[in-house]
Order: sequence, then C-alpha cells, then structure tokens
Amino acid sequence: MYPSIGKSDVIGDCLILSCFPGTSGFTHPGLLLLDPLGNEKYLKLLEELEDEQTPKPEEALLCVNCQHKITTPQEKTVINSSHSHLLTNPYGMKFNVGCFNNADGCMVFGELTSAYSWFPEYYWQYAHCRNCHIHLGWLFSSPSQQRFFGLILDKLSSP
Ligand SMILES: [Zn+2]
Repeated sequence: MYPSIGKSDVIGDCLILSCFPGTSGFTHPGLLLLDPLGNEKYLKLLEELEDEQTPKPEEALLCVNCQHKITTPQEKTVINSSHSHLLTNPYGMKFNVGCFNNADGCMVFGELTSAYSWFPEYYWQYAHCRNCHIHLGWLFSSPSQQRFFGLILDKLSSP
C-alpha cells in the first residue's frame, strides 16, 4: 500500500512511524498529527503519498511507427502457459510475440488460415496498425470462438 513507510532509509529519523499502531491502515491525518514541527522529510513523504494516490493516466502500448494506441498492458493474456512466445516463421524470421485479449488499434484482414499456424488449434489473420497500416502481428481465432492477438513486441512501445 505505502511501501515507502517501512523503509528506514527513506524516513530516517521518522522511525516512530514503524511503531505506530495500525501502521498498515493509517491515514494522512494520522501522519499530520505526527508532524507538529513541519519536518521536511514528513512533508516529502506526504508528497510521495499524494503522488501514489493520484490516478495514473491510462497506460497504453503504442505503434512504434506512428504512436497510435494499439492496446494496453491490461489486455495481456497467457496462451499455452506464456504471455510471450519466441516464434519463427517458415522463412526463418524470428518474432517475439505477446498475446493480448484485444487490440483495438489493430485492423484485421486476410482470409482465416491455419497454414503454418504457431498455435495449431487456431486460424490466423494479419493484424496491422489501424493508423499507419504497418504489420504488427496476427489475430488468432479458434473454431470454438476463442481469439487473441499475437503482437510483435518490438513493434509496440509505451508512451
Ligand atoms: Zn502505426
């Protein structure tokens, strides 16, 4: 929750906090009561806590070519016991492919095919960036309606 609280090196002479009953559940007002002198370290700690409470902007994974939002880390999924797979196509090209439940930033096209499928129970189609159209990976679909995107991780970046 507030991992910095337990670090004596961070709070230095404020060690009293670690003896404070119910440390794991204390609130800001509790901290303020412990800060009658306006100690700078306390104030810094409070700032850090505020930072942790501020909702972070939604994380996204972007097309490296045009920065279009492709998917989010929350869409990561595990297929055959792993999120990422090092795969080689019939031409010897290697891809580090990550599996995602969804990738709204992709456009999918091509006939469904099972030819050379890395995931034998799945058919695949191409998945390209919806904005700049570069190839980002594949959409894999099974006859039982399971589907996931296998995206080339080198072609995605964080903001
Ligand atoms: Zn793009």
